[in-house]
Amino acid sequence: MSTSGAAYQKCINPDCGAEFDCGQALFKCPQCGELLDIQYNWDKIEVPDSLSNFAKRWANRKDPLDFSGVWRFRELLGFCEDKYKVTIGEGQTILQQNDLVAEYVDMRPGCLYLQYEGLNPSGSFKDNGMSAAFSHAKMAGASSSACASTGNTSASVALYAHSCGLKCTVLIGSGRIAFGKLSQAMDYGAQTIQIRGDFDDCMRHVQDVCTRLGLYLLNSLNPFRLEGQKTIMYRIIEGLDWTVPDWIIVPGGNLGNSSAFGKAFYELKQLGLIKQIPRMAIINATGADTLTDLVNNKKLVWNNGKVEQKVIDDYYADLTARNFSPHTCASAIEISRPVNLKKCLRSIDICDGIVRAVTDEQICDAKAIIGRYGLGCEPASAATIAGLKDLRTEGVIAADEQVACVLTGHALKDPDVTVNYHKDKQGEFSNPPIEAPNELEEIIKLIK
Ligand SMILES: [Zn+2]
Repeated sequence: MSTSGAAYQKCINPDCGAEFDCGQALFKCPQCGELLDIQYNWDKIEVPDSLSNFAKRWANRKDPLDFSGVWRFRELLGFCEDKYKVTIGEGQTILQQNDLVAEYVDMRPGCLYLQYEGLNPSGSFKDNGMSAAFSHAKMAGASSSACASTGNTSASVALYAHSCGLKCTVLIGSGRIAFGKLSQAMDYGAQTIQIRGDFDDCMRHVQDVCTRLGLYLLNSLNPFRLEGQKTIMYRIIEGLDWTVPDWIIVPGGNLGNSSAFGKAFYELKQLGLIKQIPRMAIINATGADTLTDLVNNKKLVWNNGKVEQKVIDDYYADLTARNFSPHTCASAIEISRPVNLKKCLRSIDICDGIVRAVTDEQICDAKAIIGRYGLGCEPASAATIAGLKDLRTEGVIAADEQVACVLTGHALKDPDVTVNYHKDKQGEFSNPPIEAPNELEEIIKLIK
């Protein structure tokens, strides 16, 4: 696939709008400091007439690019030539119709779908983005990479870095990372630096580290990562026989997914490949609910890119003044200064989106239900089902609408939360182990 002149980077600030070649590794507009987007000259790309044409690639899955759940949609993220594309088999995920979880949230049978991104090679959705971003890193000639992480990013970066021969450093907050994820970063060979601070501190430092040392940055302000994450939506559409659902529900942390999903639908509509854009619900944890507060209370909106920066600045200044640090058991979304905030506001605009926050208790109960009736997930993923339950109670989502919840990470990512919930009988759905004497008859008596 030739990409000559097909894609370019563009600043999202309408007052700036600066454009840059895709060969550059920038991550922020050098002219105004705002986020960058990948834009396409669609007339220079041979996009299929119908999304169902992508199904043919599966018959050719011996080709790693056709096997990849990211690159089999390559015309929709055509920013680099095939020779740079990195894949380790990401995106072989499942869209599962789940009627028992549907019952828990008071949805009709056949209406609720769970998109299991935990089935990716490193166990989270991040692999979609890393496949794209490491392809760009190779295209840009990078030799070393870095990221700040609440866990899933570091695991995915470490895996992709060694698979394509890049050095890798990850910054994590001390004591703020789930064991499953930390074990992956170490096992995959990343240099892991634990900072005495939270994710927001790590995020600030990693940007300076990358600028000073010329490292390739892999956090989700990297616009190429979001191009890979768009494919999660293509696979949901694929799972629904090339139709779109009524609603997409996604956890809200650094807001890369919601940003990518809105862009994906906008482009598909622009290309005439879908008729309707689904609505989107973004679910925060109450202990890290910046988006909820800014959108629902401060009424912050995209406004064609002219976002009221002062509202954001004042909000963050208040967090700093209060020495606020976010706290939730859903460590993957324990973020109070989401880097993709403005792109997420754009997605809310595109998808007629809404934002809600749910408590850790709601998250843990929903997680137990997903575990009991589905394939399990990490806490942040369960925010989707907890949020859906509230939205059903509010009557915002109808029982017979078609809803797809994105479960972002594998259940084994954070075993501590799971074990504590069940073992310490923390919730309604706890399933604690039963102690038994070391005697056969006594054991038999206990088995129901
Ligand atoms: Zn700019």
